[in-house]
Amino acid sequence: MAQWYESNRRLFREEREALASACPLLRLAVVAPGFRINSACRLRRESAVVHGMYSLHVPDSDREIEYGVVLELQGNYPNRPPEMFCNDPKLPIGNIDRHIMSDGRACLAVHAEIGRRWPPGSTIIDYLDNLVAPFLAWQAYYDEYQKPPPWGEHSHGAQGIIEYYANLLGRSTDCSVVGFMRLLARKNRPKGHEPCPCNSGKRLRNCHRDLLYDIRQRVAWQDAAHDLTILVRADSSK
Ligand SMILES: [Zn+2]
Repeated sequence: MAQWYESNRRLFREEREALASACPLLRLAVVAPGFRINSACRLRRESAVVHGMYSLHVPDSDREIEYGVVLELQGNYPNRPPEMFCNDPKLPIGNIDRHIMSDGRACLAVHAEIGRRWPPGSTIIDYLDNLVAPFLAWQAYYDEYQKPPPWGEHSHGAQGIIEYYANLLGRSTDCSVVGFMRLLARKNRPKGHEPCPCNSGKRLRNCHRDLLYDIRQRVAWQDAAHDLTILVRADSSK
């Protein structure tokens, strides 16, 4: 299958020009297999990447700071968002407390939240503004003050996912959250006669149907399914 940058050369050109004027320290390019993403990993296949330095204000200060980043724009971009990797000695690879995975991948947010901040068809600039900037502002605060900022921290992995959905549902993080997620992860809208996952014993239509349908408008079922898969995997590896 042709890569997006081959089948849509115009989009590639437009994205490259928009990036060059908005963030001159970052560059969009097609790179060969073996391209070094960071000290922990290389690209396995030819791919379009954004690489270079991202510069921002340190929160609560007058200083500026720069971080080296690599964004991989996968084959089906812009239907799926880019992936962000850290490539900077200031960003310790494998430091889960700083939301950086063992291959330097940045843990930006749970999948549903990424889909909300970067709906399919968005641009590189959208990704930088809505996902990379808040992540790096968090890191810049950490670098400046040697502690996590008082805002914006999300937990890791399974717990983070449960908290995110509990918050969407306006519920505490009890076991019914997973039941709601199963209904959010279904391709077809759940029917009103099904039992409500809140354990009230009522049917959906007499209980949390409106809330569920409302959230389904905001969270794509594919994103909910992805988050649910991570939960189930985390649970079975215990
Ligand atoms: Zn209910």
